[in-house]
Amino acid sequence: MDSTTRGRLIALAREAAGKAHAPYSRFHVGCAVMAADGSVATGANMENACYRLGLCAEQSALTAAQHAFGLAAITHVVVAGGPMTGGGIAGDDIITPCGGCRQAIAEAASLSGRDIVVISASATGSEVLETTISQLLPHGFGADVLPG
Ligand SMILES: [Zn+2]
Repeated sequence: MDSTTRGRLIALAREAAGKAHAPYSRFHVGCAVMAADGSVATGANMENACYRLGLCAEQSALTAAQHAFGLAAITHVVVAGGPMTGGGIAGDDIITPCGGCRQAIAEAASLSGRDIVVISASATGSEVLETTISQLLPHGFGADVLPG
């Protein structure tokens, strides 16, 4: 991926974080998911007064991606986030997908047969870690072990 595309996807993830519904934690996370044809779907975390019903940005974006172009088309997942301050999300700590989201990304990877690139960025975009889902979730559980 060229640096322009990478920068655009990080910007989209950061923009999506600004649209999170996170009144309880005030920790906003955004995610941009790109398909092989360059199409992008975004999502953000959605909290709920019943805390356990909260939804991560990655799963929100994966749902949008499924509707826009299908999970099997995904090549890249980009996540960025941090605590919301008066001037927007802040912080230089890299945000990586949680364990549950790694499993959801692995599901998409199993559909496509490709190792999805996962780019994790800080709130400001100043710090970036590029990995793959197989690196983030080694020896993961997948449909290949289910009967049928
Ligand atoms: Zn998550």
